[in-house]
Order: sequence, then C-alpha cells, then structure tokens
Amino acid sequence: MDRPDWKGPLGEALAQALAHLEGLPDRPVRPAADLAELRSALGGPLPEAPHDARDVVAGLAAATGPGVMPSGSGRFFGFVVGGTTPAALAADWLASAWDQNAGLYVLAPAAAVVEEVAGAWLADLLGLPPKVSVGYVTGAQMANFTGLAAALQSVLARAGWDLGSAGLWGAPRVRVLAGESRHGTIDRALRFLGVGTAAIVPVAADGQGRMRVDALAEALDDGPAIVCAQVGNVNTGAVDPVGEISDLAHRHGAWVHVDGAFGMWAAASPRLRPLIAGVERADSWATDAHKWLNVPYDCGLVFCADPQAHRAVMGARAGYLVHGAAGERDALDHNPEHSRRARGFAVYAALRALGRSGVADLIERNCALARRFAEQLGTAPGVEVLNDVVLNQVLVRFGDSDDLTRAVVDRAQRDGTCWMSGTVWQERAAMRISVSNWSTDEADVDRSVAAILRCMREAG
Ligand SMILES: *Cc1c(COP(=O)(O)O)cnc(C)c1O
Repeated sequence: MDRPDWKGPLGEALAQALAHLEGLPDRPVRPAADLAELRSALGGPLPEAPHDARDVVAGLAAATGPGVMPSGSGRFFGFVVGGTTPAALAADWLASAWDQNAGLYVLAPAAAVVEEVAGAWLADLLGLPPKVSVGYVTGAQMANFTGLAAALQSVLARAGWDLGSAGLWGAPRVRVLAGESRHGTIDRALRFLGVGTAAIVPVAADGQGRMRVDALAEALDDGPAIVCAQVGNVNTGAVDPVGEISDLAHRHGAWVHVDGAFGMWAAASPRLRPLIAGVERADSWATDAHKWLNVPYDCGLVFCADPQAHRAVMGARAGYLVHGAAGERDALDHNPEHSRRARGFAVYAALRALGRSGVADLIERNCALARRFAEQLGTAPGVEVLNDVVLNQVLVRFGDSDDLTRAVVDRAQRDGTCWMSGTVWQERAAMRISVSNWSTDEADVDRSVAAILRCMREAG
C-alpha cells in the first residue's frame, strides 16, 4: 500500500486553523450563517464514493466557517467558555494524532503519567490536599456526577449499605442539601445517579446566591447526607462560605461536594484565594479546565479526598482488561468513561506554558477586566450592575426594564462587536457578562462597553 498522504489534509487543517485563530480579533463575534444556510451548505445524501481527504477538510472548513461561533475571541463574554491557549491547543492536536485510548495504563502509558503529574500540579495550584485522587472527565457536569457518586457510596457505606452491589433499592434515604442557587448540573447528576431531585433539600441563599450557613445548620440532621457547596455562582460569581460549610457538615457526618466549575480557579491567585478559604476541607471537588484554564473542549476535573471511595464507585474490572501494576494509573478507575480521549495532554501543556504565576495572572486579569466592565457600565445613566463583582461575572440591567434589557442583549448579539447572553437573576432580566478568555484586554472591554451603550440607545 502507498504511504498515506498526511500532509495534505493536516496542512490544510493547519492553514484553516491559523486563518480562524489569527482572524479572531477582527471578525464579528457572532456566527454569520443561519440554520437554513448551514443545512444547505452541509447537507445532501450520504456520499457514495470516497473523496480526497484534503478536499474534505477544505470543504468542511468552507461550509462550516460561517457557522462557527468565534468563542475564542477576546470579546466573547457568553456563558463561561474560555478560549484556548496556543500550547494547550497544540497539545490537544497531538492527543488526536497519537489517538491514545487513555482508559488504561497499558494502552497509553505516557498519557497516564501526564495525568498523574498534572493531577498533582492541579491539587497544588488549587490548594487541595496533596493525596487527592483526580479524574479527567468531559466537563463539570460529569465531574459533579463523579463526585456525587463517590459521596453517595461513602455516606451509604457509613450507614452500613453497599451501594455498588445493592444499589439504591431499599437503601437508607440520603438527603442532598444544596443551595437554592445551585447549578442545574447538580440536579441532573442526581437524576443520573437514581437519587432523584426530590432528595434535594434546597438551602436558602443570600442576595448574591451564596448558601446561608444558618439555613444549612437548620436543615442538617445526623442522617446520611451530602452537602453541595458552590464556588462561583453561574450568574453572580458569588462563592459559598465553603470552609464554614465543610466544618458544619462534618460535625453532622455529611460529605461535602464542591461545584467549582470556574470559581475553583480563584485558588490559583494569592489575591483571590481568601474568597474560597477552607475549600480544602471539603471531600470532593468539580472544576473545569475548558473554562478558566483555557484548554480546548472538552475537559473537566474531579478530585476526591477519599481515593478509596472514588475508586470504589468508578473502578472497572474485567478479565480481558490489563490492569495497571503497582503505581501504574488506570484512568478508568477515576472517571465514568471506559475508553477515553487523552485530554490530560492539553492540561499538562497549559500548566507548563503558564506556570503558577501565569495562571494567577490570567485569573486576576480577567477579574480586573470584569470590574472594568462594572465600573464603566455601572456609571452610565440608566444602567445598573446587579451583583457584587467578586470574580469574573457581571450582571447588567438597562433602564430597570426586562423588555429593554432583553432588547439590548439581542441587539448587542447581532451587532457583533462582542457576544454575551441574557439571564434572569432574582426574577429580573439581566445581561450576563463573563470574562474568561486569556486574550481579553482593556481595549476589548472598552470597545464592548461602547457597543453595549450604543445598542441601549438604539433599543430605547
Ligand atoms: C459551567 C458550569 C457547570 C457545568 O460545566 P460543564 O463543563 O458545562 O459540564 C457546572 N457548574 C457550574 C457552577 C458551572 O459554571
């Protein structure tokens, strides 16, 4: 057989990727094509015959280009998305080229060691106990799922129940105490786990969405319980008093799981770390690398202070699998996936390229830019900032009207200078600005503020 032509399609992909990435600062921050245009550019019957690989890549890029959301732009402030740094992206390409199945040590020894090393770096950076176990998952959704699975396993074991074999049929009831302002992935994880959302005891939150410790104290009894704390409210960025929550919960024998999808990264900054003081006293933690660490999608992380509980619930054993010998780390013992992408390469490269000070600088810069948004918008007539800007999230309301606020969000999205979404916070419509891209600078914020204020004038 002739040697395959790798250079054609990969060279084309490199050229297309560079055109996209280098064009980000200058292109409108919105997709150009609508649904019908994308279907017509990409649709048609299943091809009958083979097609040249380079042409396929060029054609794919041409047809999808207008439908690609430029979420890596420094003026993309939607959801909490982050971009990708050059080192992380390049390492992620290699993960695809090497095509490692990172489930087992025997199948991907380098990936296993990279994940072990990066896992220890992350525990250090995030201020977690050094002995935590780590799982690389698709995102905070599955990190919450994994952490809550370990929690359930552990609190039931303490109640004399073996979840792994007996399941939940007839098990002692486990209460899940979670802030009323929790993220929806907690509820979804509880559905996946068979616990059900009816097990949730919502704990009252303050005006910023932080769980109230007095309300938690009232809700706790000494039965089997999991407390879900949140570090980084998806609207306000507010952080639960996680140290106090952990101490209180532990006095009642409860497990504390922390959803810190983006907020956990505050730990990487000496200036912001006091916000999450005591976070290391929790039992499990979920965060995302694909948000604030700016690695490509998908990459979430789960940590567990009880590695045995972690492996008891996730571990896999089968006769045909070759399990790692002593010290050889099998990823499938730490995440719900079986076969799995070697997503640790991108995390390792991101941490090596940024270093401790680079991560701190990225987080602090984004938070300073969020405050810049709040200062400029908050002093404009008719504009109100609804939250205390403690991290990277800014909630903005225009003219104290849901209709005007929604109209400004809609206009700003179509304008293309910047992109952010709308939300509802405490029953009022708001524009939700999230600064989480490494490349965002002051000029991006200033241009975006000017565009938002122009959209407000046009909408009003
Ligand atoms: C984004 C987010 C999630 C979900 O993370 P995914 O990476 O989308 O799975 C969970 N919790 C919080 C607080 C978040 O911000």
